[in-house]
Amino acid sequence: MTTGEPLIVLDKVNKYFGPLHVLQDVDLTVDRGEVVVVIGPSGSGKSTLCRAINRLEPINSGTITFDGRELPAEGKALAKLRSEVGMVFQSFNLFAHKTILENVMLGPVKVRKEKASVVRERAMKLLDRVGIGNQADKYPAQLSGGQQQRVAIARALAMEPKALLFDEPTSALDPEMVGEVLDVMTSLAREGMTMVVVTHEMGFARHAANRVVFMADGQLVEQDTPDAFFGNPKSDRAKDFLSKIL
Ligand code: ADP
Ligand code: MG
Repeated sequence: MTTGEPLIVLDKVNKYFGPLHVLQDVDLTVDRGEVVVVIGPSGSGKSTLCRAINRLEPINSGTITFDGRELPAEGKALAKLRSEVGMVFQSFNLFAHKTILENVMLGPVKVRKEKASVVRERAMKLLDRVGIGNQADKYPAQLSGGQQQRVAIARALAMEPKALLFDEPTSALDPEMVGEVLDVMTSLAREGMTMVVVTHEMGFARHAANRVVFMADGQLVEQDTPDAFFGNPKSDRAKDFLSKIL
């Protein structure tokens, strides 16, 4: 579901790690409600792109605007941005010594200073939504990888973000657990969440994405609807990549 209303806008973004030019004049617009899947070979800059949107990586030139405002460099404005852009990583990064429920409650209570009773209710609803309400009092190590990643998604949602970034959310999971995480992501997509998803799951890209973006060597080489991209990739690099993975 896209609204034609830009939420995330990258304009000629460049990023270097020393001599390595990891983002090269990247232009990308993600509309409110849109699901953009980013694919491409390892090392092409996909994670750096995600991290730049959340300002976990500063950029060297160009601009990134979120919801009409250029990304703040620091301070309260940056903290606010981070709470508006949730991020889900390959490694779930849950706090081992806190229960599932406490993990989900932590951000709203500590960062946003919300009342614990209010947050607890929202957190329980979110745990139900990702299918693990009955595990709320367990600790992360007592859950499977797929369940832990669903907790990580609930934790991101607890901050009521305007967009969610996923960086290979299923890459660390045993194959039998990939589906349950993709199912949660698919329902979020259907409910209108704005999502940028780096993944190698081409089934998800085909079915849940509004747009597929193909990156190689720091460049955004090609972007199109899933049908057009998978059915008729235009660049040699995209054709080559698809021939290796499909
Ligand atoms: P992808 O996620 O597509 O695999 P990354 O964004 O992780 O690609 O990395 C892009 C390039 O930048 C790679 O060559 C990687 O080695 C390099 N890189 C990533 N992070 C750093 C860093 N913190 N310092 C130096 N080089 C980095
Ligand atoms: Mg990566």
